[in-house]
Amino acid sequence: KSGFATLIGRPNVGKSTLMNYLIGQKIAITSNKPQTTRNRIQTVLTTEEGQIIFVDTPGIHKAKNKLGEYMVNIAERTLNEVDVVLWLVEPSTFIGAGEKHIAQQLERVKTPVILVINKVDSVKREEVFASIAAYKDLYDFAEIVPVSARSGENTRELLKEIFKYL
Ligand code: GDP
Ligand code: MG
Repeated sequence: KSGFATLIGRPNVGKSTLMNYLIGQKIAITSNKPQTTRNRIQTVLTTEEGQIIFVDTPGIHKAKNKLGEYMVNIAERTLNEVDVVLWLVEPSTFIGAGEKHIAQQLERVKTPVILVINKVDSVKREEVFASIAAYKDLYDFAEIVPVSARSGENTRELLKEIFKYL
């Protein structure tokens, strides 16, 4: 099995930590070389099940000018071209304007979206359950997977869920 995934989410939610953890555990090839103007291949993760090719999506934000519009268009195209979108968040029951904006952008995207709730090591289990409930109201996610990129908790399960959509 092999296919494309993209990792989105606010700064500081743990995107780099998660990538590093997955790469540290598996055989991976990383590259910063621009492959095409649309998809910049970051990492190819090889596991026993197959390959996940992570591509970069430029930040999803409100377009304030022409360049912003251009970036948002690229982001939207990337989201539509990959097999699965991974949206990384921290456990929280407060859904801010930033999250609502991302959810709004995703409404126009047909690709399945997996919500990855990271940093579960830093909160109580009940808080994780409460955030799952809050995010369920925000968007029709294909899956919701709580993980800890720091300890690696449940990351195997995450890979399994990703492969379902490749
Ligand atoms: P990015 O901006 O989304 O790439 O976020 P980073 O990967 O740079 O992580 C931001 C901060 O969150 C860093 O201080 C990480 O050590 C911390 N962090 C990332 N993942 C976890 C996690 O699973 N648990 C905890 N407790 N901290 C984490
Ligand atoms: Mg980062």
